[in-house]
Amino acid sequence: MASVIENVCIEKGMRMTGQRKVIAKVIGDADDHPDVEEVYRRAADIDSKISIATVYRTVRMFEEAGIIEKHDFGDGRARYEVVGEEHHDHLIDVRSGEVIEFVNEEIEKLQEKIAKEHGYKLVDHRLELYVVPLEK
Ligand SMILES: [Zn+2]
Repeated sequence: MASVIENVCIEKGMRMTGQRKVIAKVIGDADDHPDVEEVYRRAADIDSKISIATVYRTVRMFEEAGIIEKHDFGDGRARYEVVGEEHHDHLIDVRSGEVIEFVNEEIEKLQEKIAKEHGYKLVDHRLELYVVPLEK
């Protein structure tokens, strides 16, 4: 069965080769915001003929087509997730690199309020909280 992201690629007129399908599925299935190297590891587990260069190229293509979104969580690694999932913000454990997704209505409203106070309508935002575990 075609993955969700594969269908979006087809809608956007991309030719979906077997390797692109594998890479699309790996990114679509991930819920941990993998970087390119991690996408490559997972894709190579499915199809050992996939090269890191192909993964880089395909990820860039998906990104340029607006299918996936790049995040920089402060450790210098570009990490990716599929666009169009429910809006959420990210909390990043700077020790482990773990990324937690959250939504907070108060923050959402506050951001709209701030934009409005400056004479703007909020259309998008990014919020990243960098954290370490609480001392027990
Ligand atoms: Zn996310």
